[in-house]
Parts: sequence; structure tokens; C-alpha cells
Amino acid sequence: MSGRSSKTVSAVLLAAGRSTRMGTDDSGTGINKLLVEICGFDPIERCVLAFADHSDEIVIVCSESTEQACVNAARLCSVPVKIVRGGERRQDSVLNGLNSASCEIAAIHDCARCLVTGSIIKSAVDSACENGSGVAAIKVRDTLRAGDTGDTVPREGLYQMQTPQCFNRRMLLNAYESAGEVTDDAAIWRNVYGRVELTEGALINQKLTEKSDLDFFRQIGAGKMRIGFGEDTHRLTEGRKLVLGGIEIPFRLGLLGHSDADALTHAVCDALLGSMALGDIGGHFPDKDPEYKDIYSIELLKHVAALLEKSGARVVNIDAVITAQEPKLAPYIDEMRKKIADAVGVGMEDVGIKATTPEHLGPEGNLECITVRAVACVSSI
Ligand code: MG
Repeated sequence: MSGRSSKTVSAVLLAAGRSTRMGTDDSGTGINKLLVEICGFDPIERCVLAFADHSDEIVIVCSESTEQACVNAARLCSVPVKIVRGGERRQDSVLNGLNSASCEIAAIHDCARCLVTGSIIKSAVDSACENGSGVAAIKVRDTLRAGDTGDTVPREGLYQMQTPQCFNRRMLLNAYESAGEVTDDAAIWRNVYGRVELTEGALINQKLTEKSDLDFFRQIGAGKMRIGFGEDTHRLTEGRKLVLGGIEIPFRLGLLGHSDADALTHAVCDALLGSMALGDIGGHFPDKDPEYKDIYSIELLKHVAALLEKSGARVVNIDAVITAQEPKLAPYIDEMRKKIADAVGVGMEDVGIKATTPEHLGPEGNLECITVRAVACVSSI
């Protein structure tokens, strides 16, 4: 059962539409709006991340062209994911999703509404748990006018329907048996059970429809910038390799530790974890665990990058300072930048590494240890 609701919840995410209003790209190929990147994540990934915290399972209804993107999005998800094919009409796709789902409540959502927030989802799900239905909606706030006559249409009591639309899944399936041609699930429910409970939607929960919408989605979808800081020191000793930033550097001394003792990579890991308040490297990879004995720390960094992605964050840039009296690190800096950039999935231009000599002062200056400090900036949806 999902932590936040009183009944089990299947999110049914619709990603089978044809995007007929999206137009074509520069080469004349039709754009599928669900495959467009919006600040690091496509709409399907964004919806999976938003619903994972509010569902016990996720069913993604795909088309041939979105299937691979759905498989990719499923990797980000902490709850079980099923991927099924959609049908000819929207309601055929929903029905396939409902039949594959297994929970008491179905939360049906258009992946094109990819800026949906946790509070919109929670309101609709809670209402469905309590009342059988809960549909996100907002009051019509603009003046409505008939195009042909120019007459103003009273907007009093009118609402714009959004998704998620959440229902008791069994009851909705029963209603589907007598459904005619409809535009959404609220209409199907209403035909059989009467009243549909409306819940708090929001202006931000718009549907990506036309190419010109992309500017809006990209501006709003950029999310929050967050910063993390990491610091690590390892003792220099004889009989060990010196590994920094995943690169082995010839030197008479090496760093001592349970892993390869790569202080640079460890500081970067901690900066990244810190940016999303995900704890520290010691908590994720305990130095008592034999699994991490002598491990190449770039592997740990790749694991941290995957954790960040699952929290809905993308790395913007990383910067680090290595404090070491010896050896001369300048010849290796670019190799280190490349290694770290590849491990976290950014370009080399997004990773800065500097080395400073401490003027023979302190333990670093006396060749007792090497210390690294790093900061990381991420954008989080
Ligand atoms: Mg360390």
C-alpha cells in the first residue's frame, strides 16, 4: 500500500497519443510530444517520477513509438512498472491500462501533463479513496466567447478538467462496459454513477499540446537548482597506488583506504549526494562491507549518479580542488575531468578540477595526506 493513501493505488499513465497537433521538426519528421526533452527528463519520465511516491504500481500505456521511452522511464521508478500497448481511441488505451492494473484505486493521467505536482496527485487519490472518484480540475477564469456570434458564455460554475482522474478501479471497469464515445473517464463515471468529485487542480498542470507550448514547459520545468558540498581526506602511505578521479598517477606514495581511496571521486560523490540531501558515501557504501574492498571508486560514482536520477535530479556542474603537496597533478587533470564527466553523464566542460599545493603547511604539506573539496550543482524537478 502506498504510504500516503488508505487504499492501494495503480497509476495508469497514458503515453499512447499521436501528438497530431505538435507539428514537425526541422527535417519534416512528426514530433512526438512525449519524446521531447524538458530540462533533462522527457514527459514520461517526469510523470513516472511524480507518481512513484503516490502509487503501489505504475502501468504505462504506450504506442510503438513511445515504448522504448517507457522502458527507459521505468528504470527511474521505485515501484513495480508494467508497460502495455494502447488502443485506437483514448478510452481503448485507458481500458487496456485498467485491465492490467491490480490495485483498488486507478489514477489515470495523461503523460502530456508532465508538470503535475505531488499535491495535485494526492488530492485526487485521497478523494477517490474516500468517495470513489477524484478528478483534478480548475475553475474557468477567462472570459469565454462564442466564435461565431461573439456572445459571452457565462463561465459561472464551469471547470476545466485535468488529470489525474482517480476512481475505484472495479467500479470504473463496470462503467466502461456501457461506455459510448467519450472524451475522458469523468464522463464515463458520470454516465453510470452520477456525481464526480472535483479536486484541486492547478494552472501549472497544463497539457503539452503544440510546439509553441515548449517554451512554457521548459521554463517552468527547469525546477529548482540545488548545491551540494563534499570533502574527503586520505592518508598517504607506501605500498599503495595513488588513484585520483579514476586515474592512476605514478608516485612513490598512495592513498590508504578500504576502497581504492580515491579522495577526489569520494568528495564528488558526497557533493552530489549532499545536493539532494541523500546522506553520504559512508552510509551508502559502508567501509566495513567486503563488497567495496578495493573497489574502483568511479563505480561508486556511477551508482550515486543513478540515485540522483531516481530523485528527479540532473547534474549541472561539478567543481573540485585537490590539496596535495606532491605529485604534480596538472598533466592528469583533463583525464580526471573526462572520467568523472562520463561517470555522471555530463560533458567535460561541466567538470572543473584544480590542484593546489599547500606551501608545505599542515598535514597535506607534510605529505601525510591528500584532501579534496568539491561542490556540485544539480537541477531537480
Ligand atoms: Mg574517502
